[in-house]
Amino acid sequence: MVDIEQPKKKAAGVPAVLSSFKFGFREMGPARTGKVFLKMNQDGGFDCPSCAWPDPDSKRKHAAEFCENGAKAVAWEATRKRVPREFFAGHSIDELNEISEFELGKLGRITEPMLLRAGSDHYEPVGWEEAFQVVARHLKALVDPNDAVFYTSGRTSNEAAFLYQLFVRAYGTNNLPDCSNMCHESSGTALSRVIGSGKGAVTLEMLEEAELIVVVGQNPGTNAPRMLSHLEIAKKHGADIVSVNPLPEPGLMNFKNPQRPSGWVGKGTALADQHLQIRIGGDQALFLAVGHLLLEAEAAAPGTVLDKRFIEQHTSGYELYSKHNAELDWPAVEQASGLTRAEIEEFTQRFIKSKATVICWAMGLTQHREAVATITEIVNVLLLQGNIGKPGAGPCPVRGHSNVQGDRSMGIWEKMPAAFLDRLDAEFAFTSPREHGIDAAETVQRLQRGEVRVFFAMGGNFAMATPDTAVVHKGLRECDLTVHISTKLNRSHTVTGREALILPTLGRTDHDQTANGPQSVTVEDSQGAVHLSTGNLMPPAPEIKSEIGIVCGLAALVVPEVGEIPWADFADDYSLIRHRIGRVADGYENMENRLRVKGGFLLAHAARDKREFKTSDAKAQFSANDLSWLPTSAGRLLLQTMRSHDQFNTTIYGLEDRYRGVHGTREVVFVNPDDLAELGLKDGQYVDIVSEFAGVERRASKFRLVSYPTARGCVAAYYPETNVLMAADDVAKGSNTPVAKGLTVRLEPVS
Ligand code: SF4
Repeated sequence: MVDIEQPKKKAAGVPAVLSSFKFGFREMGPARTGKVFLKMNQDGGFDCPSCAWPDPDSKRKHAAEFCENGAKAVAWEATRKRVPREFFAGHSIDELNEISEFELGKLGRITEPMLLRAGSDHYEPVGWEEAFQVVARHLKALVDPNDAVFYTSGRTSNEAAFLYQLFVRAYGTNNLPDCSNMCHESSGTALSRVIGSGKGAVTLEMLEEAELIVVVGQNPGTNAPRMLSHLEIAKKHGADIVSVNPLPEPGLMNFKNPQRPSGWVGKGTALADQHLQIRIGGDQALFLAVGHLLLEAEAAAPGTVLDKRFIEQHTSGYELYSKHNAELDWPAVEQASGLTRAEIEEFTQRFIKSKATVICWAMGLTQHREAVATITEIVNVLLLQGNIGKPGAGPCPVRGHSNVQGDRSMGIWEKMPAAFLDRLDAEFAFTSPREHGIDAAETVQRLQRGEVRVFFAMGGNFAMATPDTAVVHKGLRECDLTVHISTKLNRSHTVTGREALILPTLGRTDHDQTANGPQSVTVEDSQGAVHLSTGNLMPPAPEIKSEIGIVCGLAALVVPEVGEIPWADFADDYSLIRHRIGRVADGYENMENRLRVKGGFLLAHAARDKREFKTSDAKAQFSANDLSWLPTSAGRLLLQTMRSHDQFNTTIYGLEDRYRGVHGTREVVFVNPDDLAELGLKDGQYVDIVSEFAGVERRASKFRLVSYPTARGCVAAYYPETNVLMAADDVAKGSNTPVAKGLTVRLEPVS
């Protein structure tokens, strides 16, 4: 039943606790819920498979060290439900495509390899040997290994990711697109260029000791909920917090921390001191203006605002930047940002007052056409006051998937540096391909041209996570083979190649036993901390293999003769993999020994730890960017896609978005009441959302209008349902990230 009510003003609290246990009991039952929840994010336990928010150190961990959405994620994975072979026998591919993403996921864990033979329309169970033979047959039949693509989702462990990239490179291609291409690639591209590392430079402790925390284009209340606990600690230390977002999100308004009595009975903790309701695509203009005002303030009172010593010693490009930003077109800034000069001046005063500033961001910044320039504009503002490489300060991109950062460290990238490939070749006595492979957007474009013969995915849901859904589905159906290593069903299993395979794998919560005994894997979180993860549940079926077991089994069949790679040994003893990782992956030296320390280890970060910048000139670099923004014509609006509170990436846990007051549906579009009035539309009316890009229109049909306090001219709707509105060739400059924020749309009433 669809019900729309007023959005909430507080996050977490008792409703979050009740929701966590409701999910746990529904999927796992009380006993299993207890067993799982008490081991989650604990030393000796397993790492939450959802977002990449760091764990506090062992001394500060709570008995319940998880959030509501982490609870949903593990309940979803550790469900007792199973998808039996009879289900596949009873449902053709066409019938499976009639089942919604949400309902597919609810069916349960897959327990045996399923094969869709050419010409058939039903999956059937097969043994692992036959499944591997099917993959080997297709891969060996390809004249050019670059006709195959090997996708990775950010849930993949370090050990599995390392072996997967080794297998793919031994096979002969660098076609290793991953989910990072669609999320923080813009952060990696910008930060690598201006500070010499693509990773965030802020630890949990540094965040808590910041004097000013700015949260831009991020909704931590839903997408990294434990972050709120650390914002609360910083708040108690006296920090100012500012939210920059087209939507007012309860998670940044008030946090009712269930770990504290005030989170149960009290009024909670007010977090954001200022909410800047930015216009979509207006962030670059905002930080350009802040930089301009800081320069002005310094000129008015020399030595009181900028950290001149840091600028002289550690940066380059300041002269060009300060000259470029000496003049500012305020009317354009106000139009671009949707903010008033007074709001921006108040915001800037917080920077001037602060001696230690952290700026956090997520997809609300990285999925724009000008994302890279916008992130360098943020770094400009941080560099002006020396806010990097000191306590309480720095750039803090908050990663979305539990091991997306680790996968990149392990070599999951279509353009790994030569130094990594040189070490890999030396370690395994083979010659890896050096021609750069293709990323996610290029994979979509190759699919559009029907040029992908084999699509292989380690986890994820490529068919729905990508832009231009209709194009991707057509391209996947033209593949000779699609293969998915998965725990549960999703759309990518029903949008198949001529032949298709589903290879069931262990989840994070599952016990992983090999001939060599119980095994653990590792992950790297958003702050660059690496720790072990050990599942404690009996797997859904004894036949299910780990990601590592699947890769080793395949490699032994597809590339047995390549290099000196002990696939069978690796499959039995993951510590052997870690020894090799320690010799190839940057920063992971001596990994196995460092993991013996409780809680694992923090990777070094030259800019954070030593103010050393591994850039082209060994300096932190200022960037002179021209003001960019997204004008719209009459009757047009700017769309951002986003998650509901009952969702993680493309995994739909339910049809509720409690914080935004939406119940029982996902086909909604949030519109400012004044825009509704101006367009002659009403709350509750149904419309088609039509996007316009490069003269091409794309349509998402029948969405319910929800009157909502969005920024004027800006609308929001959930993905993956609205990914059909995104264009395959609409990508962020420099990072090639598909654009999901700032789509020009119109709303067409439907009866
Ligand atoms: S904050 Fe992220 S990693 Fe932590 S429990 Fe929640 S979803 Fe999992």
